[in-house]
Amino acid sequence: MSRREQYLEALGIEIWRARPGVVTAGATDTSWQALRAEVSVCTRCELSRGRTQTVFGVGNRQAELLVIGEAPGAEEDRQGEPFVGRAGQLLNSMLRAMGHPRETVYIANMLKCRPPGNRDPRPEESASCRPFLQRQLELLRPRLILAVGRIAAQNLLESDTPIARLRGQVHRFGEGATPLIVTYHPAYLLRSPAEKRKAWVDLKFARQELARLRAQPLAAAS
Ligand code: URA
Repeated sequence: MSRREQYLEALGIEIWRARPGVVTAGATDTSWQALRAEVSVCTRCELSRGRTQTVFGVGNRQAELLVIGEAPGAEEDRQGEPFVGRAGQLLNSMLRAMGHPRETVYIANMLKCRPPGNRDPRPEESASCRPFLQRQLELLRPRLILAVGRIAAQNLLESDTPIARLRGQVHRFGEGATPLIVTYHPAYLLRSPAEKRKAWVDLKFARQELARLRAQPLAAAS
């Protein structure tokens, strides 16, 4: 403990320590702005040619929960925000039901540009976009990732295991080994409402895991 910390402790003043790797608010703002600007002019893959605009991500930068979807659809491409169409409305209800409403979480997609005709992303497109998601993750440092849908889940986990078998487990993602839970995509749930029950099981699991992770003490910065 430093002399300053000993002094503060003697005064009975609680000492706040940053989470490891957390940078100051000002520096974080600059990093977010720089990343957003970089994404907005990206031409790493051919999806850049068909987009109206990039869809960076939205939400609370102090979020504990990061929701990751697949790619923007037509409405997201038009508005520049993820999950604003019909699937987005269902996602909002799902998040509210699990006690983590949209405004409290951060929402991003694997891809920042809309694939034409909403086709599945190609491996090279996902690979080009992945560093952006990784940087978002480094800035956010959420406690938990919720991957929605087969494409996002398999891609993030680099697995071809069916989504039914990826559900119900805590996986790890990225260099920080962030805990990751998988659930069904809201667009799939709109087509297959009978699966909503299973999605609810996943959301309760994610809520429980988040509460468990929150209860874990954070390692103090050295
Ligand atoms: N589906 C997604 O995966 N992401 C969106 O932003 C919209 C629909």
